[in-house]
Amino acid sequence: MTPVELLPQTKTFLEQPVIRAFINGTWSDTASGTLDVTDPATGNTLATVSAANASDVDKAVEAAHAAFPHWSSLSPGQRAVLLQRLADAIEANQEVLAQLETLDVGKPIDNARGFDIPFGAECVRYFADLSTQASYDVPLAIKNIEARVHRVPYGVCGFIFPWNFPFTICCWGIGPALAAGNTVVIKASEVTPLSTLYLGHLAEQVGIPAGVINIYTGTGPESGQPLAEHPLVRRMSFTGSSAVGKLIGRICGERVIPCKLELGGKGAALVLEDADVSAAAEGLAGAITLNTGQVCCTATRWYLHENIFDTFVDKVRGILEATSIGSGICEGVQMGPLVSKVQKTRVEEYYHKGIAEGATPVVELKRPEVQGGANGFFLSPHLLTGDESNICCREEIFGPTAFLVKYKDEADAIERINRVRYGLANSIWSLDLARASKAAESVVAGNSWINAHNVFAYGLPYGGINLSGVGGGVNSPETFNDYLRNQTIARPL
Ligand code: NAD
Repeated sequence: MTPVELLPQTKTFLEQPVIRAFINGTWSDTASGTLDVTDPATGNTLATVSAANASDVDKAVEAAHAAFPHWSSLSPGQRAVLLQRLADAIEANQEVLAQLETLDVGKPIDNARGFDIPFGAECVRYFADLSTQASYDVPLAIKNIEARVHRVPYGVCGFIFPWNFPFTICCWGIGPALAAGNTVVIKASEVTPLSTLYLGHLAEQVGIPAGVINIYTGTGPESGQPLAEHPLVRRMSFTGSSAVGKLIGRICGERVIPCKLELGGKGAALVLEDADVSAAAEGLAGAITLNTGQVCCTATRWYLHENIFDTFVDKVRGILEATSIGSGICEGVQMGPLVSKVQKTRVEEYYHKGIAEGATPVVELKRPEVQGGANGFFLSPHLLTGDESNICCREEIFGPTAFLVKYKDEADAIERINRVRYGLANSIWSLDLARASKAAESVVAGNSWINAHNVFAYGLPYGGINLSGVGGGVNSPETFNDYLRNQTIARPL
């Protein structure tokens, strides 16, 4: 397969000696040296970025603090105009951003072009539109009191992002915050910071005032923790693992500031005996190959009714074995590498631990031969089955893998699905929509999807409960409201 030709802008961006942080509208050197960013398809260095520490975080937060009075004093319409220009610039630069996202994360270029980048632009537009229609003063009809709720932005909002969908998740976070009049400081993942840093160029190009959007990367403890701890940060949002999410939640609790946590998952798919088995096999194979299974909300426990188990397994095995694996930058590839050597090793270790605990491979894990990818982080999609106490059925793995469970009784299966401590997303597969709808209400998570897995649209709230998150989700009017605080103004009559 031939790689896509890189655009001159992509090459120029990557070939800079160091890609610096974007602080106060300026490309700035940082205090913690540099970090190499790896191309997961080759294992080679893709780019070198400046690494931030607490002193850089301080500069970024001070800049956002200084920019807040002006940004928040603009009318929603004036801010929305600038955000629409930012979305225009994202769309005009879609191919550069898609190439960066593909090279950095390893995902197929078609996915970056078709989802990650345009869905990010759409997010910015959605919240810009919403902000022009929102009420910022709501009169209250109260006996003998003249009163209203006055809604204002918080100030500086801090964001810590993960490596799996860096561009889309960044837009999900900052879109509503900026539209509501807050300024933002973004700590991009040190594993995949490139598209987020490129956003700095676009912000500059369209005239977003200096300090409104600040972007840096660095390791978590050195540059993520100081952001959550900074006294001028008035609201935090963290997307990533539950382990780090708990730490950020503790820091925000200590500081008594609101904190949105979007964390890990261990979603289930419940395939009823009356399901369209071919569609379920297709949909669930797609759920673990999308982004090489590195998707927080994907289905990694598949509960299959005993009457359809064997047919389902035959179909899904055929689909997984036919998946074209390769470097995401080659057109036609369906699944790329894992994002890093660490992630590849983690997935392999889980597979071997699962088997050591008694699981049986249904589709074996292999190291596929990929042209030019001998040092890339490639693994084939794979399936295990066995007892639900198995480590691979209990813990989030974050790779192209699922654990199959055969069940007899629907109510019993639902009870078992609900035993995990995560609560992000599940799906129900059935041709009886009333039955599917009832089952969808009974599985405990922020999202229940019917005859599909991974369903996203603006206006459709998305968030987790339990170990999967707290403090509001993303993508809906509620998210926009999260970035405004209420102030009651009242006068006794
Ligand atoms: P991670 O928790 O390791 O890292 C996330 C971010 O936190 C990174 O920017 C990292 O540098 C930073 N970080 C790490 N240690 C830190 C510390 N001590 N203090 C402050 N910041 C720190 O997660 P990851 O490996 O980047 O991403 C994978 C995880 O993210 C999975 O668990 C996945 O389920 C979850 N995720 C959840 C959602 C969602 O919407 N619920 C979306 C994407 C990813």
